[in-house]
Amino acid sequence: GVLVGNLIGQDHANYVLMYNMLTGIRIGVSRCQAKGKRPLTDADYTARHKFSFDIVGNELTPSVKYDFKFKDYAPWVFRELREYFYLDPSDYLISLTAKYILSELGSPGKSGSFFYFSRDYRFIIKTIRHSEHKFLRSILKEYHEHVKKNPHTLLSRFYGLHRVKLPRGKKIHFVIMNNLFPPHRDIHETYDLKGSAIGRLYPEDKAQQNPHATLKDLNWVQRHRQFWLGPEKKVLFEEQLRRDTELLQRLGIMDYSLLTGIHNLFKGNSEGLREDKLTVFQPDAVKVSRKATQVKRDADATALRKAVERSDPQALGGKHELPQTDSSERRLFIFYQDEGGMRATGDHNEELGVIYYLGIIDILTPYTLVKRIEHFFKGMKHNKHMISAVHPREYGDRFLAFIKSSIRGNDESIRPQMYEHER
Ligand code: ATP
Ligand code: CA
Ligand code: CA
Repeated sequence: GVLVGNLIGQDHANYVLMYNMLTGIRIGVSRCQAKGKRPLTDADYTARHKFSFDIVGNELTPSVKYDFKFKDYAPWVFRELREYFYLDPSDYLISLTAKYILSELGSPGKSGSFFYFSRDYRFIIKTIRHSEHKFLRSILKEYHEHVKKNPHTLLSRFYGLHRVKLPRGKKIHFVIMNNLFPPHRDIHETYDLKGSAIGRLYPEDKAQQNPHATLKDLNWVQRHRQFWLGPEKKVLFEEQLRRDTELLQRLGIMDYSLLTGIHNLFKGNSEGLREDKLTVFQPDAVKVSRKATQVKRDADATALRKAVERSDPQALGGKHELPQTDSSERRLFIFYQDEGGMRATGDHNEELGVIYYLGIIDILTPYTLVKRIEHFFKGMKHNKHMISAVHPREYGDRFLAFIKSSIRGNDESIRPQMYEHER
């Protein structure tokens, strides 16, 4: 399965934070969810619900182990977003809060964010900077609009935005999002792809020792990796990627990447499980009859293909049936329907022995002053088109060109130039 972080026990430095986050979510989300559904208003996007928790408890909040304050941002908007992503409300709460167990994934980025997995690895809690928090609130309406029109979006799925304030005044903002990687499958290679060359090589000698390392663009290029997508998937994938990138460009976002996990069915899982034993390995909740899934899958793909042909963005928002079982929601999404990912296909759309787990992550960095300063300094040393801090329009064009050039059969010469000596 997935790489396991450090379980947070009572003696862990961040136990109190975890307790407060999960308590806030449990109370905040269930309060909002208990109310009848109603259409969103403009005020919902800027709304924040405050909760004050203490060890005594009061009419509004139950007694808890620690004193802290909690804010639930735009709860009605996120409630609707969770619905678009076919998350069952009780399922969501159970996964996160039925037992107070999270595991912490150190600090994988340079940003100082912390990542926590829910007990079942379906959800990731990421602590974010105040500026990222403000930014998400400012784009929430457009993000919501985009998700509504693009049910197959590859963008990070945000399920909630919250803040915990500790008694000494420390404020911690965090989002809850989808874990792109499945709990039941080994990821044999991981890439974080931006379409940039500068600083985009993970040392190969270190990579050999650490199979869980997140590799980068130049590793991908030097290893001659490609997305194997037959004609059918290719057109859908490219179209969705184009739409998502367009939104990120319009919102002035940069620094995002296509996180890609590769599962090789021939290698199987470290437990020695192979494809022929797949069904045994599926968590019960995910068991759906193969035939039913196939029908659903075909219908979905047809709908998106038609929308692509008509270039009709509205048509991409077509209604699906609600899933009957929990945690099967991913099966309704074209790029997440094969064991939670996207099966590689060949020239005749035949299935190949690889599953891709991918999505666009880290989408909360606007092109701000900081980036302009970075641009200025780096620009003196390097070709200005190759550093990562270019203008959002250029960043998006380069990102899209790189991913497209990485799809087998596409012309590699459309790949943005990546000079080895620039490393
Ligand atoms: P930086 O800004 O330095 O890139 P960051 O703290 O903003 O870092 P991200 O880029 O969001 O972090 O993510 C860092 C790593 O965490 C990714 O490379 C990936 O390994 C893991 N990760 C992030 N989001 C997800 C996700 N949705 N599913 C699975 N893994 C994820
Ligand atoms: Ca990143
Ligand atoms: Ca970041």
